Amino acid sequence: MALIVQKYGGSSVADAEKIASVARRVAESARGHRVVVVVSAMGKTTDGLLALAAAITPTPDPREMDVILSTGEQVTIGLLAMALQSLGHPACSFTGPQVGLVTDAAHTRARIKRITAERIHAALDAGRVVVVAGFQGTTEGGDITTLGRGGSDLTGVALAAALKADVCEIFTDVDGVYTADPNVVPDARKLPRISYDEMLEMAALGAKVLQARSVEFAKKHNVPVHVRSTFKPDAGTLVTREDHSMEDVVVTGVTHDRGQAKVSILRVPDRPGIASRVFGGLGAQNIVVDMIVQNISRDGLTDISFTLPRADRTRAESVLAALAREVGAEGVTADDRVAKISIVGVGMRSHAGVAARMFETLSGEGINIQMISTSEIAVSCVVEDKYAELAVRALHDVFALGAERGA
Ligand code: ASP
Ligand code: MG
Repeated sequence: MALIVQKYGGSSVADAEKIASVARRVAESARGHRVVVVVSAMGKTTDGLLALAAAITPTPDPREMDVILSTGEQVTIGLLAMALQSLGHPACSFTGPQVGLVTDAAHTRARIKRITAERIHAALDAGRVVVVAGFQGTTEGGDITTLGRGGSDLTGVALAAALKADVCEIFTDVDGVYTADPNVVPDARKLPRISYDEMLEMAALGAKVLQARSVEFAKKHNVPVHVRSTFKPDAGTLVTREDHSMEDVVVTGVTHDRGQAKVSILRVPDRPGIASRVFGGLGAQNIVVDMIVQNISRDGLTDISFTLPRADRTRAESVLAALAREVGAEGVTADDRVAKISIVGVGMRSHAGVAARMFETLSGEGINIQMISTSEIAVSCVVEDKYAELAVRALHDVFALGAERGA
């Protein structure tokens, strides 16, 4: 009998009725397979919990934040286990700590160290469906931790790896991974398959289908991940190991990320050790920066700009303001009105001129490029936020990603 891990996101379990219908779907799978289900908090519960904390203090203690955040998922597991039982299917729920999901102590963004999963094995052997709370774990010392926003995906994939499951199915409100956001590009196409690397780029670059860390984990442990709709029976997109046929396609998808801010530190002395202090200082605050650009220096001074999640902007600004004073920089500026537009495809490894075509397309639309970065399989440009959708549509067209596929 195959072992399947199924993960249902917040929108799939948003109310009692939806939980009951998820239970029916799980019970159906459980007829022929051993099933472990991972669930998120109901609907926008996590956002609500964050707002509650924010109403108490602008600088919540991360340890206490995790105590609060982990409650959302605990409600869902109990309800889903009950719903399965009322269908006559034996089921039981476990929290992250109960299944031995041990993490480091980086509260609100903890990393998984190991999963013992003993209780899962025992419950499966007893013929039960096992329902596990996503997004949470415990430190070695027994403190509750959470895995970062969207962390239930990671729980699903990590459990699939630990249990050596045949597949991790991610059930969500979209029916797969698309060539672009279908809300922005009406003729975006569902991809039947995508490589881990492409998915990783797309997730990191703003496609909100899967949490980036979960894809990294899936790649490392070679877990096949099937992204599919909770509300439709059709197959979705299989995220899997790369093969040769994938290289024929130059660009697989276009993404946009409107959740970033651009921060610059101006007129910093251009000498060894400055960048390391700037980014070391941000790293020490657990602020993850993305694109970094340093200008050519003039008169021994230079500007350093980078992007980071918009939510971290205020924290970054205060860290940087202090650093700017220490190193004798002129000051710090920040801009929220930016969007990052990216094209992604493993075919870029073997095709030339892809970046040039992207720049030409943006310039053809009169869109100014503020920053550029490239990887082996992606090119990203930061542009003014108001052009985000126009840029995505133009690139989707130029690279013929629509239903009527050309190149
Ligand atoms: N409930 C958490 C969140 O909203 C985890 C998840 O849904 O994956 O980020
Ligand atoms: Mg989610």
